[in-house]
Amino acid sequence: MLNIVLFGAPGSGKGTQSAKIIDEFGLFHISTGDVLRDHIKRGTELGKIANDYISKGQLIPDDLMIQILDNVLEEQAAGKEGVVFDGFPRTIPQAEALKELLRKRGTDLHAVIGLEVPEEELVERMINRGKETGRADDNIDTIKNRLKVYHSQTHPLKEYYTTEGKYIPINGSGIVDEIFNEIACGIEKTTGAKRRTKK
Ligand code: AMP
Repeated sequence: MLNIVLFGAPGSGKGTQSAKIIDEFGLFHISTGDVLRDHIKRGTELGKIANDYISKGQLIPDDLMIQILDNVLEEQAAGKEGVVFDGFPRTIPQAEALKELLRKRGTDLHAVIGLEVPEEELVERMINRGKETGRADDNIDTIKNRLKVYHSQTHPLKEYYTTEGKYIPINGSGIVDEIFNEIACGIEKTTGAKRRTKK
């Protein structure tokens, strides 16, 4: 299996680049944000709980989020060649849990791609996405809180995964295909995996 975490601040391009990675490396995509938004759309109990946190730009509590991820892995990712984790982990306890969830399944995390984008660009991208897609948490007040939460709770994971020798920093500003090429080269070099269409 090939398991990759796509890491970065909100608006750093995780969704866009995940789509390309799963395509070129034949992996399964798990976006915890998409899973939660799907629950909200369907009006489930979990969706109601999630909406309270998401609309304020806060994180869903670790215990609940880890349980959700465990279920998705069990129900959807079994038998796949590997997974791109997009938006998980977002805290150190989630990173510890991911290690255990993968170990339990006889596998490991192979690389963490860190998309690094200046803050002004993040805000601009999210404002534009909000206008284009109507995504409810892409409004300036919630964006500010999401960035605050990112700095205090999620950014420490960069050091965590650097210490583990898994963090691959990528400049996430610029042209989408060029950024993807950097990511793919990083994955190939670190894991020995090969993309389907050789560049
Ligand atoms: P995203 O689509 O990844 O930007 O996630 C949107 C929102 O979903 C976040 O602002 C959080 O409120 C919630 N969320 C997504 N993934 C997680 C996670 N791993 N832990 C806690 N909350 C999450």
